[in-house]
Amino acid sequence: MGHLSNIHLLPALRGWPQAEARITGGKGFPGINGWVRFYQTDDGVMVYAEVDGLPTASQPCQEKAFGFHIHQGADCEGSGEAFPHAMSHYNPKRCGHPSHAGDLPPLFGNNGLAVSAFLTSRFFVEDVIGKVVIIHDRPDDFTTQPSGNSGTKIACGTIQRAAGPCI
Ligand SMILES: [Zn+2]
Repeated sequence: MGHLSNIHLLPALRGWPQAEARITGGKGFPGINGWVRFYQTDDGVMVYAEVDGLPTASQPCQEKAFGFHIHQGADCEGSGEAFPHAMSHYNPKRCGHPSHAGDLPPLFGNNGLAVSAFLTSRFFVEDVIGKVVIIHDRPDDFTTQPSGNSGTKIACGTIQRAAGPCI
């Protein structure tokens, strides 16, 4: 491994994302809102998520974590079951969970606010435009197939092309 002489991916977050998803809550979760932004770098995609209005812990030691994935579906519409068109985790290489391209680190709630920044080289920004980001009401256990036993879908956002230049 190379020796990092400086933090080198943080500046990517100061630029324009190539894609972004506006997150809104589903039925029963009208207060959830936020953004997930995608920045293509030479090392992979820097993802920055900021989501507020998530369910909060009612007791000590119950602070919540939320499963967070890109699903291969194309829209957050539909009624009945939450986000019925989201389909399964984005998984073009037919891997097992949690090695799906769309598997992301869970979001940690902080009195309803979650902020996360991470790198993933499992896809290019261009690959996920038009797909959806889903937040679940339970943490991903990173074991159970096919989706980590993450529970109900509580929020969704369609990944749309944004202002940033393509690399
Ligand atoms: Zn998965």
